Amino acid sequence: MEKHDGFMRALKCRECGREYPLTATHVCEFDFGPLEVAYDYERIKRVLTRAAIQSRPKSMWRYRELLPVAHEPTVGLQVGFTPLIRADRLAKKLGIREAWIKNDAVNFPTLSFKDRVVSVALSRARELGFDTVACASTGNLANAVAANAAAAGLKAYVFIPADLEQGKILNSLIYGAHVIGIKGHYDEVNRLCAEIAGKFGWAFVNVNMRPYYAEGSKSFAFEVVEQLGWRVPQHTVVPMASGSLLTKIHKGYQECIKLGLAPETPYRVHGAQATGCSPISTAHKAGLDFFKPVKPDTIAKSLAIGTPADGFYALRAIKETGGAADDVTDDEIRDAMRLLAETEGIFTETAGGVTVGVTRKLIASGKIAPQDSVVICITGNGLKTLDAVNGYLGKPREIRPSLREFEALMAQEEKALKS
Ligand SMILES: *Cc1c(COP(=O)(O)O)cnc(C)c1O
Ligand SMILES: [Zn+2]
Repeated sequence: MEKHDGFMRALKCRECGREYPLTATHVCEFDFGPLEVAYDYERIKRVLTRAAIQSRPKSMWRYRELLPVAHEPTVGLQVGFTPLIRADRLAKKLGIREAWIKNDAVNFPTLSFKDRVVSVALSRARELGFDTVACASTGNLANAVAANAAAAGLKAYVFIPADLEQGKILNSLIYGAHVIGIKGHYDEVNRLCAEIAGKFGWAFVNVNMRPYYAEGSKSFAFEVVEQLGWRVPQHTVVPMASGSLLTKIHKGYQECIKLGLAPETPYRVHGAQATGCSPISTAHKAGLDFFKPVKPDTIAKSLAIGTPADGFYALRAIKETGGAADDVTDDEIRDAMRLLAETEGIFTETAGGVTVGVTRKLIASGKIAPQDSVVICITGNGLKTLDAVNGYLGKPREIRPSLREFEALMAQEEKALKS
């Protein structure tokens, strides 16, 4: 194989700027700062035009030059280019002029935005010669690693908190992945995985492969920009677990502007968390640059990271863009899931309830102005977190297969409506 790195230049420390070769590594040896992929933007600018992008298949890989693979991708070729939906009925309920839903609840193949980061991480893992991939996960990542590894013929080990939702557990087991439930919360799973990664020589997508993995989230931003007709939205509300997606949406918007794909307009990126696990939004509301770790207790399990790896950078991105952050309770999460379903016909998981609920709060408090336009990031599917709404939606009414019984039921309903 010809030795070249595509459009990547190096891995670069976010703290001191020292550069490292493009291997499976993620921290700076001098200050333990996280490493990030640096690109040759001059070369990218010459080839990556709007016309070039639009001539390519509708997947996240149409922005391939801005994604960290050296050669053509080999895993997850169908991932991304999910719908951006104009949500007028929801906007009306939220009290804002214009709202858009970017709907990764229907991402392929595992119905969450994690397919994006995983297709990048596994494509890169293969380039680097790995045959076994792994992850520490709050659920969706485990599903995405399990499915995409199966389709690529890679061995997969996924580590999850043992008390995850049934839907998330079964959605990993079905693909034949080695699923290991850890009796502890995510932060303990993650710590264990850092030790395993050092010993077993696997490609841990969010440990030693994290610099590549995280870049996959930028595709979410690229698609929003293209689908809005090549402009950056005024407001974007993003759910935060580790805070990585939020920082990469910010980076994606900046790259679009830098490459001339979108005009330079002001934009704000807002962060959403569950009150039961809100280290980042709590720090932002207190005006702090650093978060304090918490012990998670929320139905939004996919966001339940008490020590968010990118929390510091997420706080900075929010501040830099003039954005805000807030959090919502479990009841507000369920209400918001229902609101999105009833107004737009989209069943999101608890994380989406967090995002819609926080959007509602930010509009009510004036942090997002009613005459503005907002993109709401829906990142996962409600069919995976049925436990969260079970018992809160009422029950179907049962009758025998008889027209008379149905008429009686309708009459009852009419009466109830009148009273
Ligand atoms: C993982 C995840 C997120 C956020 O992830 P970050 O760690 O902040 O990048 C958001 N929504 C869902 C559904 C997720 O699974
Ligand atoms: Zn450094």
